[in-house]
Amino acid sequence: MKKIMLSIGVLVFSLSANVFAQTETSGREKIYRATPTKWTELKHTKLKVNFDYQKEQMNGEEWLTASPYFYPSDSLVLDAKGMLIHEVAIDKEGIKTPLKYNYKGNILTINLDKTYNRNQDYTVYIKYTSRPDVAEKQGSLAKGLYFINSKDNDKDHPFQIWTDGETEYSSIWFPTIDKPNQKTTQEIYMTVPDKYITLSNGVLKESSKESGNMRTDHWVMNKRHSTYLFFMGVGDYSVVKDKWRNIPVEYYVEKEYEPYAKQIYGNTPEMMEFFSKKLGYDYPWAKYAQISGRDYRSVAMENTTATLHSSEVLQKPGQLIDENKWEEYIAHELFHHWFGDLVTTESWSNLTVNESFANYSEYLWNEYKYGKDQADYHLMTNVGRYISSHSDFNKNLVRFDYDSPEDVFDVVSYQKGGGILHMLRNYLGDDAFFSGMTDYLKTYEYQNAEAQQVRLSFEKTSGKDLNWFFNQWYYGSGNPKLEYSYTFEPVKKQVELVINQSQEKPFEFPLAIDVFDNGKPKRYNVWVDARKTNTFTFNVSKNPDLININADGVLISENVDKKTPGQNLMQFTNSKEFANRYKALVGIKDNLGDPAAVKLISAALKDPFFRIRIKALEILNLSNADQEKALASDVEKMAINDPKTLVQAAAISALAKTKNKKYLPLFEKGSDAISNAVKSNSLMAIMEIKPSMAESLVNKIDLSEASKNMLIKMFPIIVRNKVTSQLQYITSIVAFYPLIKLQDPELGKSAEEGFNLIMSSDNTLATEGITKILSQAKTEMLKDKDAKKMITQMLQEGLEKKKDFLKQNPQKAESLNKQIAALNKIIEEYK
Ligand SMILES: [Zn+2]
Repeated sequence: MKKIMLSIGVLVFSLSANVFAQTETSGREKIYRATPTKWTELKHTKLKVNFDYQKEQMNGEEWLTASPYFYPSDSLVLDAKGMLIHEVAIDKEGIKTPLKYNYKGNILTINLDKTYNRNQDYTVYIKYTSRPDVAEKQGSLAKGLYFINSKDNDKDHPFQIWTDGETEYSSIWFPTIDKPNQKTTQEIYMTVPDKYITLSNGVLKESSKESGNMRTDHWVMNKRHSTYLFFMGVGDYSVVKDKWRNIPVEYYVEKEYEPYAKQIYGNTPEMMEFFSKKLGYDYPWAKYAQISGRDYRSVAMENTTATLHSSEVLQKPGQLIDENKWEEYIAHELFHHWFGDLVTTESWSNLTVNESFANYSEYLWNEYKYGKDQADYHLMTNVGRYISSHSDFNKNLVRFDYDSPEDVFDVVSYQKGGGILHMLRNYLGDDAFFSGMTDYLKTYEYQNAEAQQVRLSFEKTSGKDLNWFFNQWYYGSGNPKLEYSYTFEPVKKQVELVINQSQEKPFEFPLAIDVFDNGKPKRYNVWVDARKTNTFTFNVSKNPDLININADGVLISENVDKKTPGQNLMQFTNSKEFANRYKALVGIKDNLGDPAAVKLISAALKDPFFRIRIKALEILNLSNADQEKALASDVEKMAINDPKTLVQAAAISALAKTKNKKYLPLFEKGSDAISNAVKSNSLMAIMEIKPSMAESLVNKIDLSEASKNMLIKMFPIIVRNKVTSQLQYITSIVAFYPLIKLQDPELGKSAEEGFNLIMSSDNTLATEGITKILSQAKTEMLKDKDAKKMITQMLQEGLEKKKDFLKQNPQKAESLNKQIAALNKIIEEYK
């Protein structure tokens, strides 16, 4: 699963945990999150379900086959959150005998008809009603089972039902042992209106018509997988069919996206082939389907053979021409079908064996498909996210002391974990690294594992001890913080490099060092011991021009570099690795007046990798006469001709900073482009140079289709120019302005103006847009008392503004009273 962003409905801004203070944990007793004890071994889960669309509930019957795990037992203890339990019986060849049970505190304890020994199977029958809303009211952090517009009263939403089990929410829709170290085979009979399609794990075995235009689909999953990976989906989707070898590959898309399904998901078969070969283990499941869920609060979830994506996966050509922003998630969720679904973490403490590998698959896919630069860019931005999240410095990768299992889904388990695997690959070499992964998969297939088992597989394959690596990076926290200096010894013709580790606990690691002698780099691979200070000596012909540490960019570290623009230029022009070029480029940011800096930027504009070109365009400043002279004609050409639309867009923004009217025709042309990036940056440029043109242009854009990025860029223009016709499309931003202000004061101020504009005018669509989004986000917001307070205050003030506006405009009473009612209702909901 990807849980990096908790997006709330269509909310543009994520309420990442760092907006508000973390849970206070001081003075609490030390927590130890043990692997759940296995008293019972689940074997097979059979469900028959149908839905109550009005109550948003599910009627279920379950036949659960299990046995004691080791010790004899006469009871079965199940998780069942927020349910009504109607009947519990033992089922022996179809004959049901009622059993005594106790259902309390979301735990269903069943007294079996006798004491069973291990390997002695029994089947328990349970008739129940699943009530997601009740489970949520009882404190569950998620609903597990989601009904989208099932009452058919929201014309903006299609009808959908889908489930999301991770971490422990499957027990909201069927009684089970809701722990990752329980695996069962499964079959589900889903009865739905005939007009809808269904999706579940495994294969659709049969489909039979029922009376009243209903149909029952029978889905069968005959390989064991963890209960959190169980999935059901129902809705009005188009199914676009594809294939990998003989395995069906299917894309379930909302109907209007059917023409673009292959553009969005079409690399999936190639990914399946690539990962199967790379891992030495063929994709093990009977099919692979991907579906999207509206208002899904997470990013995506790797339900076995039935991945659920947020509906942000759905993109149109304007976005796709820039880049498929979801491709890395598509790779990530697919890779979970080996690391996560085939071999599953034994406990949430060991989540790294799912998520760090899935994160690293994004690197592998980029490396294979788009080249090492793209992969290294991914690595740099990912590790950068961990480095800049200072509170995560002290978190171990394997963690036994979390508050909630959800806490482990963070930049340490994902981004840092992926970077750690990259270091391990570098240390072991590709052959040993990928063979170790194959060994891990073959040894623990259809079972559970923890990080120690990852270590054992890599040790077994490579013959190398890896305790030092795992103790440091898996069972420890932080990273090296390096400072270095060097002195030249002219008689010996040697340079002495001193590397200091400034963090509290020293690390040991291999380190790549480039020593530039006569303008050319020579690569040294040294071993840095776990000491404060390490000293290395290299032979040189004269005082080195430059020494570049972590030259291959592999080590997760924070380095203090002090390089002159000339040295950065030398590093840029002589380095193959992306990270060296990128860092050299960023390194001149504050010395743009230096001639070497202009030379570097000029070279960077011609770099084969488009991310470097974009960065150069972001850094340069064409209002400066020297840069204008040296670079402007190149930038102008890039704005028109660069093969990447994202680069064109960045070039347009760079030209806009000059405020030179001669570029206006170029921007006007850009405002008609297909590319969202080119279009929105051109509009921004016109805003800068000729604001009077902006309103008519903003009106030209269909913001209902706009990407979030574009919306963020456009919305200040809409607010500033009071473009009332477009206000309804920015409600997902303005409705949260007090929270946005905390993250980005400038944007927050604009959002506040937008909110006040809507409140001080007669705009039913925009007002109801705000109340609707706040209603969707309610559960999330009410969990945080600061957020609740801020939103409530915002709404009270908005309501007063609306009432004032009504006093001044009594002729508009009918529509204004409707808006006032909507505001009163949402204020009530937030009480
Ligand atoms: Zn994941």
